[in-house]
This record gives sequence, C-alpha cells and structure tokens, in this order.
Amino acid sequence: LGPLASRFAIAWIDSCASTNSSLMERMPGDDGRAHVLVADRQTAGRGRRGRQWQSWPEGSLTFSLLWRFAAGTPAPAGLSLAAGLAVARTLERIGVSGVQLKWPNDVLVNGEKLVGILVELQPARDRSLAAVIGIGINISLPPGAHVEHHAGVTDLARALESPPPSRPALLAHLLAELQQLFDLYAVAGFTALKSAWEQRNAFAELPVRISGEHAAVDGICRGVDDDGALLLDTADGIQRILAGDVSLRPL
Ligand code: ATP
Repeated sequence: LGPLASRFAIAWIDSCASTNSSLMERMPGDDGRAHVLVADRQTAGRGRRGRQWQSWPEGSLTFSLLWRFAAGTPAPAGLSLAAGLAVARTLERIGVSGVQLKWPNDVLVNGEKLVGILVELQPARDRSLAAVIGIGINISLPPGAHVEHHAGVTDLARALESPPPSRPALLAHLLAELQQLFDLYAVAGFTALKSAWEQRNAFAELPVRISGEHAAVDGICRGVDDDGALLLDTADGIQRILAGDVSLRPL
C-alpha cells in the first residue's frame, strides 16, 4: 500500500457471510484509520433490498470499507455515487474503456454490470457518520458462472486486453481513489464530483423507469443534482428522486 498504509487498517479473511455485515457488527473504534475487510468468500453477499451479491473465491474481489465522516459533512445521499465514481476512475486508470455509471450505485462496462456497490450508513449521537461501503468486482468469472441479472454481467478479464491486476494490486488502486474522492466529499460534498459523475452517466437523456416502494415513474434522465438525487423529466415536470430503495431500468 506504500504511502496509504498509515490511512488504512486491512484485514483479509477466508470467509464470512457478508463483509458489510461483519464490519458493521464489529464497528472498530475510531483510531484515525479507515478499516477494510476483504473476504475471499462471502456466503451471503448482499445487494440492496435483500438482493444477493454473488462472488467466486478466485474470480472476485469483495471488500468493505468503513469511512468516518465528521459531523456537518454534506448530505450522505451522494456517497453511493461518489463510491461508484471512484471505482469507475480506478477501472479507467488500469485500462478499461467504456466504463459507465448507472444511478445510483452500479458500474457498467459496455452496458454490462462489472461492479456492485452497497453503502450502509450508521449515524452517531454526535452527528458524525460511519459509512460502510461494500464493493464487489468481477475479476474473472468461472466458466459457466450464472448470475441472475437482466442487464448482463461482465468481468475484468473480458473488459481488459491484458491480464487483470492481482487482487491486492486492484485493492490498492481502489483504496487510493476512494480516499481521494471521500476526502473531497467530506469538505465539498457531491457538488465537487457531479460533473465527473455525469460524464459517465449510462442513461443521460434516455427514457428510464424508476420503481421501488411506490408506483413506477417514467421519464427522461436529466442527470443528477448537487445531492446526488436523480432528475427525472416526467409528464408532470422534473421530479427529484432520492436513491433510497428505488431502482432504475432503461425503457
Ligand atoms: P440493479 O438496479 O442492477 O438491479 P441494484 O443496484 O438494485 O441493481 P445491487 O444491490 O447493486 O442491485 O446488486 C444486486 C443485484 O446484482 C442482484 O439482484 C443480481 O441481479 C446482480 N448480481 C449479483 N451478483 C452479481 C455479480 N457478481 N455481477 C453482476 N451482477 C450481480
């Protein structure tokens, strides 16, 4: 990790149910470092809304990062988007082209899902915020691997012309980028990252459907606002959609 070593405390374990759950249960004390839990195998990897995240011991990198934000940090809604942007920039840096972001939290390459991100927040009494950011990256899916996903799935082995980096090397690249963007987020909020996010928006100016707890809403995706909310141009005008538990689908 070189110069990053003093900012991160990394535990790399064989197996756990979910790295997000383990880190949230353990909730390490604040020693000034960001705690990272990497697991070769997750037996119950989670996505949003109880969905499953699948991974393979040799073919995936799955980890969670605990990042503490001081009281007064700008709205946390944009953190999923900030994490997605950090992952996208890492992938571009190692030579992947065609990286796009699907609001709020997916990273796609040529329209197929390569990375899943799950951000869970735990506000403290002093109004500071502990954010647990879970990231799962498909490095090389085993032949015949079946992932339940309508939009298609890809891995780094397909997205790169050269062999993918080792998992420790990929983790180091990711942590460096996450640190840079979260440090910026802590002082300037999502506003500072908005245009970089929008440049990679997979559905800019395209018709989409937002569905979740309430009735589905259709509209044209007009980008995101300073909090990371989606701006949906509907028959009733622009609606601001907060990530919460809603999903976006192309129409
Ligand atoms: P979406 O809008 O893409 O359905 P989401 O953001 O609501 O996703 P997530 O919580 O990010 O979903 O991820 C869970 C979903 O990702 C699962 O329902 C499954 O379809 C898909 N998935 C699970 N494992 C993988 C994987 N290794 N690679 C790609 N997609 C996966």
